Amino acid sequence: MGSPVYDIAVIGSGPGGFSAAVMAAQLGAKVVLIEKSFIGGACLNCGCMPTKFLWQVLKLKQKIQKSYEYGFKANLDSIVFADIVNKKDRNIANIRKGMELILASYYIEVVKGLASFKDKNTLMVLNAKKTSEIIADKIIIASGTKPSSTKNFDFDGNKIISSTDALSLTQIPETILVIGGGAIGIELSTIFAGFGCRVTLAECEGQLLPNEDSEISEEVKKNLSRQGVEVLTSCVNALDNVDKYEKILIVTGRSPVNDFGVDKVGIKTTPKRFIETNEFCQTNIENIYAVGDIAGKNLLAYTAQNEGCIAAENAVKGNSSEINNKVIPQAVFSMPQSSSVKVYDYLQYKEVVFGKFPFTASGRAFIEGERTGFVKCAVDKVTQKPLAFWLVGAHADELVNTASQILASGINHIYRESMFHPSLSESLLNAYEDALGKCVELPKKY
Ligand SMILES: Cc1cc2nc3c(=O)[nH]c(=O)nc-3n(C[C@H](O)[C@H](O)[C@H](O)COP(=O)(O)OP(=O)(O)OC[C@H]3O[C@@H](n4cnc5c(N)ncnc54)[C@H](O)[C@@H]3O)c2cc1C
Repeated sequence: MGSPVYDIAVIGSGPGGFSAAVMAAQLGAKVVLIEKSFIGGACLNCGCMPTKFLWQVLKLKQKIQKSYEYGFKANLDSIVFADIVNKKDRNIANIRKGMELILASYYIEVVKGLASFKDKNTLMVLNAKKTSEIIADKIIIASGTKPSSTKNFDFDGNKIISSTDALSLTQIPETILVIGGGAIGIELSTIFAGFGCRVTLAECEGQLLPNEDSEISEEVKKNLSRQGVEVLTSCVNALDNVDKYEKILIVTGRSPVNDFGVDKVGIKTTPKRFIETNEFCQTNIENIYAVGDIAGKNLLAYTAQNEGCIAAENAVKGNSSEINNKVIPQAVFSMPQSSSVKVYDYLQYKEVVFGKFPFTASGRAFIEGERTGFVKCAVDKVTQKPLAFWLVGAHADELVNTASQILASGINHIYRESMFHPSLSESLLNAYEDALGKCVELPKKY
């Protein structure tokens, strides 16, 4: 019997590969999806979902602790962290089942095993039972990234741990040193500190979230300090003193997973070994596309998903869809959350005015009991076009999507009646109007 032949073979079932496979099947292609580990990739199994789950449980804990203010007589005698981890794993397994159902509904063949290139149309798939060969007209690579360790400190899964190890701990350590003050470092520091660990967070740059607005970064740092995290910025020697800590968590970056014959078929990579792609998500080899983390543009699940859909459309119908990443929101699950979004050509605007609306002035934030933080807005003085929003506060991760839509629409005005009252979204409008000196929900400025 010859090897099975497909229109599209996808390597990896994270957000990039999953969306590519489903989109290609929707367009009528015969699709095979190859996955060496669990369906769902880093996002579902050791990234977005487990961190947000643990964050939500922490939030629940804080709500219970604050509930006496509302007349509840709730008690939080003890927390069994292993039970929380158990619940996380069950939730993730359920989401995974849902994804498997979707794949099955489109008759996408899922092959478990490690794919590697034999030639530009042929993949060898190795699993515990056998090696099989798959032939495909087009191949979409969505192999993702893995945690990278730092010089002289290799992960051992015990003392020196990665984000993946950290998310599977069933006991909270007494002390932890977190190296890396990016989104993942901040989220894991927040979670560990919230469940009683003494956390030191070290960042070598001058501020946490080095690419973020300094005011947002400062607010995040202030809130982490309030939660008991020792935050060290401009810190280059944190690893000199590792004996002081029970665990060392290294979250300084991720490196591409490209060890499956990428060079053998001549696929071009960047100096950091991510796969080079053009605006159609196509590599230098015509029938091979690459999407998501492995293409190294934005290491985010929604970028991976978007690129997966674009690559599938191009692979099935010929190159016609281009990446449009003009407005990309960012969010970090600090406590409270922080987020931001800018128009892509932000730096070209010369006359920019800023407005700010604190959540202490929001009626809805008052009702929610969530009054920490603010919304900051940048506006082009000439056209009154909103250019950027930065947020720290409850639901900042959701609010930034509204901000994103405002910026993506390119409008020069935010209509007052377009925001329901009482809502936190009104704070976007108020920050915008403050930039123009016409916010009616703030006191007069002298
Ligand atoms: C702790 C953490 C928190 C995060 N939080 C967020 C967040 O809140 N929001 C967000 O947008 N992003 C978040 N991310 C980033 C997000 O997880 C990634 O950007 C996203 O998963 C990338 O998707 P992908 O499809 O490119 O790759 P991945 O999700 O990494 O999937 C790649 C898949 O390919 C498989 N694979 C690799 N090589 C082979 C092979 N040779 N054969 C077969 N299978 C193979 C892997 O097993 C894996 O399942 C987070 C990441 C981490 C680590």
